[in-house]
Amino acid sequence: MADTIFSKIIAGEIPCHRVYEDDKVFAFLDISPLSKGHTLVIPKEPAITIDQLSDESSAAIGRVLPRLSRAVLRATGATAFNILQNNGVGAHQAVPHVHFHIIPKFADGSGLGIGWPARQLSPEEGKQLAATIAGYVTGT
Ligand code: AMP
Repeated sequence: MADTIFSKIIAGEIPCHRVYEDDKVFAFLDISPLSKGHTLVIPKEPAITIDQLSDESSAAIGRVLPRLSRAVLRATGATAFNILQNNGVGAHQAVPHVHFHIIPKFADGSGLGIGWPARQLSPEEGKQLAATIAGYVTGT
């Protein structure tokens, strides 16, 4: 897999404002924050999107995300925040290395703006789609 800016950050070849590191996870401040405290949490494993990430790295990230979120909230005074995780260029992923954004939301409006164009789910479609996805969960 090609080197990305994030693998270079993990390797110490590019500077960053690091906030956390363990054997599987690295976290640092986003260079273009949407709000104060905007932090990126990444696996050291160089997977591009989360569906390609190993169970071990996924578990390691899941274990520290709440702790890192609490630290960001305490450091910034924010009480609300979003966790954002983009996969694929079509879904606004700019850096092809899995990353979770922790983005504090403030009363001044800074933070993540969300468009949420909700649609309807009919009972028939819901039943069929849930059964199809459930069938694939065990096989993936
Ligand atoms: P995404 O659109 O989900 O791929 O977000 C990529 C994020 O990486 C953006 O919020 C960028 O500001 C951030 N970013 C890119 N380069 C760096 C860097 N060298 N240090 C810190 N954050 C970066």
